[in-house]
Amino acid sequence: MAADCEIDDCGVLAIGRCLRCGRPMCTSHRALTPQGGPVIDQCTQCQTAIAKEGRDRSQREALEAEVARRARQDRMRTAKRAILSLIRQLAAAGHRPDKKIRHAQKQVEVGWWTRRTESREDPENHLYGWFVGTYTWEYSAMSGDRPREDRTSELRTYITLDRRLATEDRGPLWSDVRGMEVGIDPDREPPGRIYIDWEQVLARLTTIARELGVHAAEGS
Ligand SMILES: [Zn+2]
Ligand SMILES: [Zn+2]
Repeated sequence: MAADCEIDDCGVLAIGRCLRCGRPMCTSHRALTPQGGPVIDQCTQCQTAIAKEGRDRSQREALEAEVARRARQDRMRTAKRAILSLIRQLAAAGHRPDKKIRHAQKQVEVGWWTRRTESREDPENHLYGWFVGTYTWEYSAMSGDRPREDRTSELRTYITLDRRLATEDRGPLWSDVRGMEVGIDPDREPPGRIYIDWEQVLARLTTIARELGVHAAEGS
């Protein structure tokens, strides 16, 4: 028995049924693919509804992602402030980082005839840090004669007394990389060079401080 199209009070002779809503539909109330071909089992109203659900879902997901991103940003900001505060407390208590991560050298003139220079150790500029974990760093590097290339490495990472996050010196092989550093800025993440969980850094530094007898103080 032939049915009439029930979409939009149409009434034209139906040629099929919509699988989703079960109503009979005519040729012009049959959904079309983006290429213009007929979608055999779907009416135009259901197609519109499905598209809207998809849009709503992706809007909702985008919103949730944004909320999560801001929440994380807030947590990281709080953690970074606490890290900076802890560094200040450690310094105030007279503690210095234990691990040398940069060995500094300087050129000095030797022999007042020749003006020859030699490299000498430069202890004032050695860099020391507290080890706070291994993190993923992105950098571009040159090795020997090979062209510069982008790399990602898990690197041992340290907190310095002058409020930086730094990696260990990587030796002469990576002559232009050596160690890397980023400042700790509560309001800004380092630009794409390091993926860091500041809460984890804070946890590590808190443990180090506790072992040294320094306990995190509120608002200092
Ligand atoms: Zn339908
Ligand atoms: Zn119709």
